[in-house]
Amino acid sequence: MTAFFTRLPAKFGAACALSASLCLGLAVSVQAQDTYTKTKYPIVLVHGLFGFDSIGPADYFYGVPSALTRGGARVVVPSTSAANTSEVRGEQLLAQLRALRAANGTQKFNLIGHSHGAQTVRYVAAVEPALVASVLTVGGVNGGSKVADAVLAGTSATGTTPAVAAIVDAFASVISFLSGEPKLPQNSFGALSSLTTAGAANFNRRFPQAVPSVSCGQGAAQVNGIRYYSASGTRVLTNILDVTDPLLGLTGVLFGFEASDGLVSRCSSHLGTTLRDNYDWNHLDEVNQAFGLRGLFSQDPVAFYRSHANRLKTLGL
Ligand code: CA
Repeated sequence: MTAFFTRLPAKFGAACALSASLCLGLAVSVQAQDTYTKTKYPIVLVHGLFGFDSIGPADYFYGVPSALTRGGARVVVPSTSAANTSEVRGEQLLAQLRALRAANGTQKFNLIGHSHGAQTVRYVAAVEPALVASVLTVGGVNGGSKVADAVLAGTSATGTTPAVAAIVDAFASVISFLSGEPKLPQNSFGALSSLTTAGAANFNRRFPQAVPSVSCGQGAAQVNGIRYYSASGTRVLTNILDVTDPLLGLTGVLFGFEASDGLVSRCSSHLGTTLRDNYDWNHLDEVNQAFGLRGLFSQDPVAFYRSHANRLKTLGL
C-alpha cells in the first residue's frame, strides 16, 4: 500500500488555483511498511518560531515524517512564516489545508504543532473546526513564555525593540530562504508579542478551545468534535554534543525553579488532555533536534509521535 508525504510550499493555495494537477503532483508516494500509524486523516506537522518545513534533507520534526509515513500515515509538512503572529501563521496554515482539501478531497486533518505551532494549529481548529479531527501541541506556548516576556521587557527598557526586531526579521528571512520560502512575510515583533504571557492570554481569551480553566489543570478533552492533546518536556541540558543546548541553558535560567523545557514551562504547555508534561526532553528534543541528539536515557521523540498516531488510528481518526 502507498501513502503520501507532502511538503507544501507557502503559495500552495495560489498554485492549486492555477492547476489542480500541480497540487496532486506534490504528493510523493512512499511505500508503507506497516499500518501502526495508518490514521484515517493526514497528519500535519507545524513548526514553531524560527522553524521551517525542511532545510535541505533536514526535517524540522527530525525523522518524524518518514517514520509516520512508513507506518502508513499520510503526512503533510506545511510552510508558515518562521516568525509572525499566531493569527498570520494560522491563516497561512488554513489556506494550505483548504487548498489540500480542494485538491485531494481530504475532509479533515490531524494537526500537530510544536512551540508557536501550538497557536497556529489552535487557530485553524477554532476558525474552521470542520477541517480538523484532532490537535496535539508539543512544547506548546499555550500559556506564553517567560523568555518572550524577558526579551520584550529587556528590549523595551533599552529602547532597542525596533533594532532587535529588524535583526531577528533578517534571521527569520534567512531561515525561510534556506527552506525555499523566501517570500514568507516575517514579523518578529508580532511573533514575540504573541508569545509573551500577556499575548498568549489574549489569544486564549479569543480562542479558548481546550485551554485549562485553572492554571496547570487539564483542558477539555474534546471541543467542537475535535480532540485536544498536549505534551512537553522538562529538561534543559540533555546532550553535551548538541550545540543548541547552551542556548536553552541560557533561556532556561529565566524559569528559576519552575519546571520547563528551556523555553516553555510545564504548566504553560497544558492544553486539552495532557498526555505527559515531564518527558526528559528540552524544547528542541521535543522535535528530535538537533539531528536526534538528546539525553542518553530519554524517551525517543519519534516513538512518541508514532504512538500518538496509533492513538488517533485506534480512535478512528
Ligand atoms: Ca537536543
